[in-house]
Amino acid sequence: MKTIGVITSGGDSPGMNAAIRAVVRSAIYHGLKVYGIERGYEGLINGDIQEMNVASVSDIIQRGGTILRTARSEDFMTSGGFQRAVDMLANFEIEGLVVIGGDGSLRGALKLSQEGVTIMGLPGTIDNDLGFTDFTIGFDTAVNTVLSSVGNIRDTSSSHGRSTVVEVMGRNCGDIALYAGLAGGAEYILIPEKEVDINALCRKIVQGKNRGKLHSIIIRAEGVEMDSNELASLISQRTGLETKVVVLGYTQRGGSPTARDRLLASKMGYRAVELLKADSASRAIGIRGIQVVDYNMVEAMAMKRSLNTELLELADILSI
Ligand code: ATP
Repeated sequence: MKTIGVITSGGDSPGMNAAIRAVVRSAIYHGLKVYGIERGYEGLINGDIQEMNVASVSDIIQRGGTILRTARSEDFMTSGGFQRAVDMLANFEIEGLVVIGGDGSLRGALKLSQEGVTIMGLPGTIDNDLGFTDFTIGFDTAVNTVLSSVGNIRDTSSSHGRSTVVEVMGRNCGDIALYAGLAGGAEYILIPEKEVDINALCRKIVQGKNRGKLHSIIIRAEGVEMDSNELASLISQRTGLETKVVVLGYTQRGGSPTARDRLLASKMGYRAVELLKADSASRAIGIRGIQVVDYNMVEAMAMKRSLNTELLELADILSI
């Protein structure tokens, strides 16, 4: 292996830059030529490809977003577009490609691997919805962003004695809600993996109020079936308490990555290049406990995520 590429695809996540930096610097350390592909698979199809050097990744470890930019690509999903992507990699003699992205991006990467390109898949998404890793790059920062907003919301909710439904991201995965809810002391956490029990929710709010609680914070993951406004009006109706909705939205995607995300990205980026240097077949890189791990791409993408029920129970106990 002499020449590799690095690409970010799908939704951006804080820590992608730290991963790009790790890939580029590790590649140079190992004597590999490294190209940066801009705007995800869309840029690959268009040949938006530049050689990178040590300085190309200076001063980015602390920055959110991705210097390579990212995109979603309809064209890549067509056979013509996909073939152009494969051809473009061949034009630049890119033998190994590090793909940093979420589930969709890595499914695309798996297809590239089936065309003979060696792929190293890095989990880059705030959603934490991939089965082959305990944590994805960007998740910890997103949780901390939610926490900071919850702190502000708590102040104003206390002053007015109201309940607030805080809607957080995560697609069909409840992890941002669960981790931020537990760490932020939310009164109730609603996640798509568990059915909404509106009676229990309202009972908890009323019991809290009777004990002198000034506010209630309900964290709802975006994938929960009952939408935030419907939920807030039900709570108001059934508890008599004013209930507001705050949708945190894209603030969760940005910001400087936490130390944890930078470390995760650096370790994973380095592992990807080590594997490429060793002429490994395609792998997906994750973390289990504190160990960086790598799996066969096909097996990794078939792994199912399971809900951390212990954390959910803990959150329930601590928010009596
Ligand atoms: P996030 O989790 O942050 O949304 P993602 O990587 O899951 O990120 P997607 O929009 O699902 O984001 O995927 C990014 C791109 O990957 C798509 O625009 C498409 O080009 C490609 N892609 C997605 N799914 C597939 C698939 N099943 N096969 C081939 N390519 C795919």
